Amino acid sequence: MQAKRRFWRHHSEYRHRRSGVYTGLTMSEKVLEIYLHIPFCERKCAYCDFLSFPAPYDKQEAYVGKLVSEIKCAGELYSDWRVATVYIGGGTPSILPPGAIAKLLYAVKTSFVMQTDAEITMEANPGVMGPEHLQAYRKAGVNRLSMGLQSTDDWELKQLGRLHTYEGFLNCYQSVKEAGFDNVNVDLMFGLPGQTLLTWKNTLKRLALLRPEHLSVYGLSLEEGTQFHAIYTQYPHLLPGEDEERAMYWMAHDYLQEHGYERYEISNFARKGYQCRHNLGYWTDVPYLGLGLGAASYMEGCRWHNIKDLDRYLEITNIGELREDSEPLDEHAHMEEFMFLGLRLDRGVSGYEFLLKFGKNMWDVYGEAIKELEKEELVEIHSPDMRLTRKGVDVSNYVFEKFLFDKE
Ligand code: SF4
Repeated sequence: MQAKRRFWRHHSEYRHRRSGVYTGLTMSEKVLEIYLHIPFCERKCAYCDFLSFPAPYDKQEAYVGKLVSEIKCAGELYSDWRVATVYIGGGTPSILPPGAIAKLLYAVKTSFVMQTDAEITMEANPGVMGPEHLQAYRKAGVNRLSMGLQSTDDWELKQLGRLHTYEGFLNCYQSVKEAGFDNVNVDLMFGLPGQTLLTWKNTLKRLALLRPEHLSVYGLSLEEGTQFHAIYTQYPHLLPGEDEERAMYWMAHDYLQEHGYERYEISNFARKGYQCRHNLGYWTDVPYLGLGLGAASYMEGCRWHNIKDLDRYLEITNIGELREDSEPLDEHAHMEEFMFLGLRLDRGVSGYEFLLKFGKNMWDVYGEAIKELEKEELVEIHSPDMRLTRKGVDVSNYVFEKFLFDKE
């Protein structure tokens, strides 16, 4: 879940104080994406550091009411933008009653101008939704469902602190398909405690048989403040080693490719025609408006986060006061992101798009770095485009750092 936000935070350390704002947008391109954050979960998973927690029902109800107000205010502020995608993430959005999801989407549709073919995704955890919930989500307008499975091995799921079993997921997946969802993502994780190449292969095989339209495949990362961080920084030998972890990644890559999935981003695989439009927007510089607790936004050349304290969020009435860490993105920061995010994509970055966006030749700006990386066989050039090699994918953070202007 929330992969792009994890990635963004990972690179937030590279933000520097800069002057001048660069928006790169024209009126004719005023298309945005909306992210709605639902911070509630039944209980906290052992590896998770997302902004999510259990909360009593009355708090959840109050939160939905407040989020509806925030959506309406934002709709007035951005009335001349068109919404291409909506993503309801968390947390566990499916913990809310279906009526709450309908209320939120109704508020979005009546407050913003929507593209007729808008992609509307909702994250859902197996086990907390029955057929009537699924019908209600569809009726509310959800046309893409993202299910957090992580593994088909019940022992691994237990280690992660997940509440579902594989069988529970299967029953839920069947209901999802019977409800008519024809665009479903399943999240998987590798590099888990006790996981082996054999159990990972088994998970991949089972998913390839189910044939969901999309698979997100992320390596476990130990985030400070989580139970996993406390345990496995002390006992790292209980996790698969680095070589085994990379072998798991490439096993997924090769196996999924053989079974009809194309990798279009480092961690994302899709059957033809089912790439996630919302996430593609993040990686290709489409502005996004994050609404709800802690949600991140990037609009008109500026980034900010909403506050993360639930009680304060519920109290505040002025939308401007919800925002913090507002930071203009200048041309250098914008170029860095263009490179980091674009190189995550399988197609890589386009020199032509760079020129269109910044009015400069990518080779004039980054020629030295590109030459060095090509020599190390970490990128390959198909002029005017550039992409990561297989070796480059394994050390992608090293590659991304080469595109920073201030290397500290
Ligand atoms: S369900 Fe997802 S958001 Fe909630 S605690 Fe688990 S990993 Fe975190």
